[in-house]
Amino acid sequence: ETRVRFAPSPTGYLHIGGLRTALFNYLYARHTGGKMLLRIEDTDRTRFVEGALENLLKTLKWSGIEIDEGVMLDENGEITEKGNCGPYIQSDRVKAGIYDKYIEKLIEEGKAYYCFCSKERLDNLRARQKADGLTPKYDGLCRSLTLEEAKEKIANGEKYTVRLKLPKDTDISFEDRIKGKITFNTNDMDDQVLIKEDGYPTYHFAVIVDDHEMGITHVVRGDEWISSTPKHVFLYQAFGWEAPEYIHLPTVLNKDHKKYSKRNGDGMVEDFIERGYLPEGLINYLALLGWSPDSEEEIFTMKELADQFTFDRVNKTGAVFDVRKLDWVNGHYVREMSVEDLAAAIKPYCIEAGFFGEDYPEEKLNLLAATWQSAIDKFSDIKDEAYVYYVDDKDMKWTDEAVEAIKTDDAKTLFDAFIGKLEEVDEVDLDFAKTIMKSIQKETGIKGKNLWFPVRAGLTGNVHGPELVNAFVIMGKEKMIDRLNYVKE
Ligand code: GLU
Repeated sequence: ETRVRFAPSPTGYLHIGGLRTALFNYLYARHTGGKMLLRIEDTDRTRFVEGALENLLKTLKWSGIEIDEGVMLDENGEITEKGNCGPYIQSDRVKAGIYDKYIEKLIEEGKAYYCFCSKERLDNLRARQKADGLTPKYDGLCRSLTLEEAKEKIANGEKYTVRLKLPKDTDISFEDRIKGKITFNTNDMDDQVLIKEDGYPTYHFAVIVDDHEMGITHVVRGDEWISSTPKHVFLYQAFGWEAPEYIHLPTVLNKDHKKYSKRNGDGMVEDFIERGYLPEGLINYLALLGWSPDSEEEIFTMKELADQFTFDRVNKTGAVFDVRKLDWVNGHYVREMSVEDLAAAIKPYCIEAGFFGEDYPEEKLNLLAATWQSAIDKFSDIKDEAYVYYVDDKDMKWTDEAVEAIKTDDAKTLFDAFIGKLEEVDEVDLDFAKTIMKSIQKETGIKGKNLWFPVRAGLTGNVHGPELVNAFVIMGKEKMIDRLNYVKE
């Protein structure tokens, strides 16, 4: 049985690259009928962020990625764990003493050693190596201590770490499913710290013990981990365990083809949720970020993705995050919504933009949604589009074309006729809105483009746009009279 895991370190928000990693794990699990695990790698206590775990789990849940085993949210939204290999949070595993016997075994067998070098010594060493143009690396001072000497120092209360004892000048190879055979020489590798001074294991140590204990068959992660993999492979060998298969996913790049990094603060999944992307849209787009289907088709449900997903169609090179493509994909899902659902979805954005309040009539809201359903790609787009119906006349912006269209003599005649018709009714309903243009055409003799352009331009500031009849109802009598009087001047 395939067992894959998403193993984030919850240090804040979930990055788009992290969600892509989770997704590819999940798709592979579903494709093979295996299990998707979620493990939390939080042994770096200096990076602990309150609430980060809950946030991460909520975001995953939103995306539609389901966790079969490990850490997850229950029906009440509480953090819970399921499965036989728990605990699944590394800091809890530390407390349970899970790593102790493994590190002892490595030390006993001479595959790891105690290191007593102070932070100052290591800092100086690093600074010197850097100044000499060398890649910083531990110089191995404590490698020669005997176990008895080390234990005596510990008994004397000296602080220590435990390091991996890599053999000199040895090639370590592994087969990456996507990138092929990769080889590193131990001379280019560091005696990695496995246990830190605070007693916590480092990521590199915990990940091996946990992937082994949890029966992980495939490690699917971002390719920034490639240079760590030989250390992991060495540890598997040291324990005499079979290593999982490695699948390193192409880096997610930004539009400048640089690594789309967390540090820039952009690319957080939460921001996409806030901007009103649909989970179906974001997931569909992320699947295409580094994977390509067998056909020209680009729109896929989660189920269809899982059916088709294989690592053979994952690219080797970086995948550029293209927000316009994301918008295009997401727009597809916006068009598929019911008008009522779309109305409910855009409402908070309209309220936030100050268009109207909570008590806005449902009928108008639905009309607004129907009007813009074909033109918006995400819910927040409504703020840039619909403001013309609600904004104060003095804050309106007219395009150059619109200004042209409202300056003509015909336009003045039309506006007067339009206002006249409006004054005959109490309020503008859809039936009235459907007939008003016909009646001013009759009255003025102006028709076609000469009729529609000025009216549209005067009311919406633009000569193009969606269904104007709907706009009449959305704006209502008073707003239209005011606006047309304003543009007449
Ligand atoms: N905890 C690592 C991270 O935050 C996971 C790396 C891995 O999947 O091995 O990305």
